[in-house]
Amino acid sequence: MPEFVRCNLCSGTEYRFLPNKTDCLKLPEPLRVVRCERCGLVYMNPRFTPEEHGEYFVDSTFYKSYLMRVERMVSLFSATYKVLEGVFGRCGSLLEVGCATGHFLWVGQQRGWQVVGLEISASLAQYARDEFGLDVRIGGGVKDVGFNAGEFDVVYISHVLEHLHDPRDTLECVHSLIKDDGLLVVQVPNEFEDLLFILFGRSMKNRFRRDGLPTDHLYFFTPQTIGHLLEGAGFQVIQMSTWAWRNQRNLLRSRFAGGYLLKVIIFSLGGFIGRGPNIEVFAKKA
Ligand SMILES: [Zn+2]
Repeated sequence: MPEFVRCNLCSGTEYRFLPNKTDCLKLPEPLRVVRCERCGLVYMNPRFTPEEHGEYFVDSTFYKSYLMRVERMVSLFSATYKVLEGVFGRCGSLLEVGCATGHFLWVGQQRGWQVVGLEISASLAQYARDEFGLDVRIGGGVKDVGFNAGEFDVVYISHVLEHLHDPRDTLECVHSLIKDDGLLVVQVPNEFEDLLFILFGRSMKNRFRRDGLPTDHLYFFTPQTIGHLLEGAGFQVIQMSTWAWRNQRNLLRSRFAGGYLLKVIIFSLGGFIGRGPNIEVFAKKA
């Protein structure tokens, strides 16, 4: 049975139903997208329990399409490390929470980072171990794996928080794993606030999944709500942007972009005006 939950950001129980967003995601009954009346967090309520959610999330077609996409993202990962190294000032130890196939960690290892991954899917973790020889622990939560307090210079969480049932709890756990002078890097989709959605939102049915399943996102963050969530977990935001792609030329050359020129232009334009498709936050311990 789907569960009703409190707001993960402010623990509020008052919310407003968002019929347009629920409709655009083609959510099955009784799932709904709502906005917290107190803090503005947009989230799914009611939603599937973790057990029900897992049936959707750990499906093989999703990962097969992910593997095809991630291989084209390696140059993007290098660009992300360049920004990270600029902010942090050097290489160090890095944990990626939700490392999937390990491509991001592999790129970092080649640049001199000491990398460790955490991944909920045993088959993806095994792929990262076999393909790249990476240290990837299998677990659904940061608490399950036994990392030490203050073990990492940097924790990187990319497109993971929006899938979690309790992102605030994960961020609080991550806070303890980071050294006092360390960094947290978070990337989440800028859903419902990016330029593409503003221009074409109503006509974009089922925009998140091409396989006909409903979205597996439980939270729909904005720059404001992700910033407040990080602050609530003990972090101080030092840099935030909504970039599209760091390497547009490469993207335009790739097969992926062939039929999506308009999308690329809108995403890039959106990034310039703070309405790009990805929110990226660098934060330190407050
Ligand atoms: Zn709230």
